Amino acid sequence: MALFGTSGIRGVIGREITPELAFRLGACLVRRIGWRVVVARDARTSGLMLENALAAGVMSAGGNVVRIGIAPTPTTALASRNYGDCGVIITASHNPPEYNGFKLFNSEGKEAGREEEQRVEREIGVGQEERGTGEGRRPSAVSRVAKWNEVGRDEKNRMALKEHVEKVLALVDVALIRKKSPKVVVDCGNGAASVIMPYALREAGCKVVGVNAEPSGVFARGLEPNAENLRETAAIVKAVGADLGIAHDGDADRAIVIDENGELLGLDAQLAMMCEEELGKKKGVVVSTIEASMGVKEAIEKGGGKFAITKVGSVHVAREMGRLGAVFGGEPCGEYIFAGGVPVPDGILAGLKFVEMWCRKGSLGKLKSKMKSYPMRRAKFPAKERGKAMQTIAPEVKKAFKGKFYEEDGVRVDFEGGWLLVRASGTEPIVRITAEAKDEKLLAKAFAKAEGIVKKYLS
Ligand code: MG
Repeated sequence: MALFGTSGIRGVIGREITPELAFRLGACLVRRIGWRVVVARDARTSGLMLENALAAGVMSAGGNVVRIGIAPTPTTALASRNYGDCGVIITASHNPPEYNGFKLFNSEGKEAGREEEQRVEREIGVGQEERGTGEGRRPSAVSRVAKWNEVGRDEKNRMALKEHVEKVLALVDVALIRKKSPKVVVDCGNGAASVIMPYALREAGCKVVGVNAEPSGVFARGLEPNAENLRETAAIVKAVGADLGIAHDGDADRAIVIDENGELLGLDAQLAMMCEEELGKKKGVVVSTIEASMGVKEAIEKGGGKFAITKVGSVHVAREMGRLGAVFGGEPCGEYIFAGGVPVPDGILAGLKFVEMWCRKGSLGKLKSKMKSYPMRRAKFPAKERGKAMQTIAPEVKKAFKGKFYEEDGVRVDFEGGWLLVRASGTEPIVRITAEAKDEKLLAKAFAKAEGIVKKYLS
């Protein structure tokens, strides 16, 4: 079993994630990737412990560690490009506080691909047999400690956050934002956004109301920025008469938007709105994933753009964008990548782009009401051996439906009047069905057909 999931290494502190693993990872990065390693962390209480262990690993292998402290994922990607041969953020994104993990970047600031991850896995020698115990084959990284005069240096970098703010502000119309000076509620979830987003908004000329904006690692709300966790924040947006609200997950690669009425725009609508916004500035290809809704596809077509579809995961979106020279790429979880920005999802830039959208187009609630949306249904089914189950489920789905199939990641079928996706989760032992159609009847029919197949092969 691989050490890396769909979004780096992630697990529970003291179980999958230990200081020993951090140490080995640090040493391995120097041996396999490069000697200058940028390290950042989100606000979790275990972050500094892991950072110190990772730094020790880097230095023991003769590498230099460049510490940027608490910072979002996109800031770390930018700093990796500016200062490192590679970079690591210690984060578990939206997971509960007992989780943590590592996400790797190369010297271009791109998320490590599967090949780079495999090199790291081989070196640190962590397979399934030793996950959870921290015991097992001791890799060479630990035994070969640098001599006294070859131990690496520990550098502090205080420029990374400032440089990210500068980059973000260069990509939005600051003059317009300053003129309109919107009132913005920002909910940082006590995560990494706390150290940058309120300042970036203020710098851009917004009146800022910060919520959960202390990077304490003690999370006042669930870090997954969904409707339930954002209920209070949404009420605050309305109560203080803000023009919009922005909420982030723990590492601020995601931005979730709340309109002036205290309503969440919704993940599909806000993605469709951003597709239209970016295509309004520049025509071209827009990349999204097999989870993209019909509303997103229609917004791209209406905006004069070309829709390109790829596998779920920001690393795939970023790659496809690079390959096609796309103007924008986004996933319906609130992760957006902008041409000219960093090559990873940037919640800070996305938030500012929505502020800019409000300044140019007015009420986001009204804009949302103009977006098309169709009935949609999602369900998840527990599946211990989800990969194996999909091997039998996918051909059955293909037999049961007529239409255009995408099979690179689960199985998606675009049929007359709708689409359906059956896919194994990248991080949890579940299989998901997602379906959308022009009307409820068509949706119910397609969903029931897929549900029948999944239940049959999972039982
Ligand atoms: Mg995240």
